[in-house]
Amino acid sequence: MLISLVVPVYNEGPRIARHLQSILTAAHTEDCELELLAVDDGSNDESASEIQRLVEVDGRVRLLSLTRNFGKEAAIYAGLEHARGEAVVVLDADLQHPPALIPEMIRAWRAGEHIVEAVKRERNDPSRLDSLFARAFYSLYRRMSGFDIAGHSDFKLLDRQVVDIYLQLPERYRFFRGLVNWTGISGRVLHFDVEPRPGSRSRWSKLGLMRYAVNNVTAFSTIPLAVVAWLGCLTLAFGVVVALITVLQKLTGQAQAGFTTVNILLILLGGSIMTSLGIMGHYIGKIYVEIKSRPVYIVKLTDRKRP
Ligand code: UDP
Ligand code: MG
Repeated sequence: MLISLVVPVYNEGPRIARHLQSILTAAHTEDCELELLAVDDGSNDESASEIQRLVEVDGRVRLLSLTRNFGKEAAIYAGLEHARGEAVVVLDADLQHPPALIPEMIRAWRAGEHIVEAVKRERNDPSRLDSLFARAFYSLYRRMSGFDIAGHSDFKLLDRQVVDIYLQLPERYRFFRGLVNWTGISGRVLHFDVEPRPGSRSRWSKLGLMRYAVNNVTAFSTIPLAVVAWLGCLTLAFGVVVALITVLQKLTGQAQAGFTTVNILLILLGGSIMTSLGIMGHYIGKIYVEIKSRPVYIVKLTDRKRP
């Protein structure tokens, strides 16, 4: 039985070959064949040539090169599309996802699990700011989408059936962790400690990470659009109160000439424009959900007996 290891690679430098070899050694299990599919996400260093050298000496290694840097999510998607295994393990190239866990993941899969997730025991972020940022993201994500994926990583084993379901989801913008969680397919959780990144810094820029966070929250929630509608209603309600006060002031002769009209116009116009925007936001939210064309439901997978 074949197990695929999908490894996204972006500018990992000359150590990539050694890392991939360590992954293969650690993942080795009796009576399971391995293929390691390295997806070069448009690296502009020696990563691709180093992997190519490995391909030539080790028949288990395959290289899929993307034309440019499409981002880790695209690399994972490409890897899953090209993987041939009955189960696929996705893991990082920098050994921050300990490959020593793979044999245990495979054992759990053979015992019948459809998904085996490696969840971080404790965050090991290089700075307090990173840690704070990650916490804020997961908390916002949980509130907005209703799914709790705190601690989840892209280090996962997926059964072929789950890979096929994932690939059938038609949306273009993908958040691997979030989408696998969204399918509702349950599995086993294994805990792991994140190792410090050996030798180099994370491939993510701060700005890139921020954009990733905003995209992921909005991919799973239309609440930000609804907020406009609520703000509109609030402004309108506030406007009506202020308008009444202004009219009262006018009647009791306390207002300056012209002030009443301007005041009422401004407040009520602002409020109604915002409410209209909110109503449009509501429809845009519906269009957004429809256009992602996620399946309405997913049927529980049948028990899988492995030889
Ligand atoms: N990666 C990628 N494309 C990118 C950025 C990163 O394929 O645009 C790969 C990278 O080579 C590594 C994995 O994704 O295998 C995780 O990246 P990194 O370790 O930099 O992220 P972090 O550990 O900070 O989440
Ligand atoms: Mg890393």
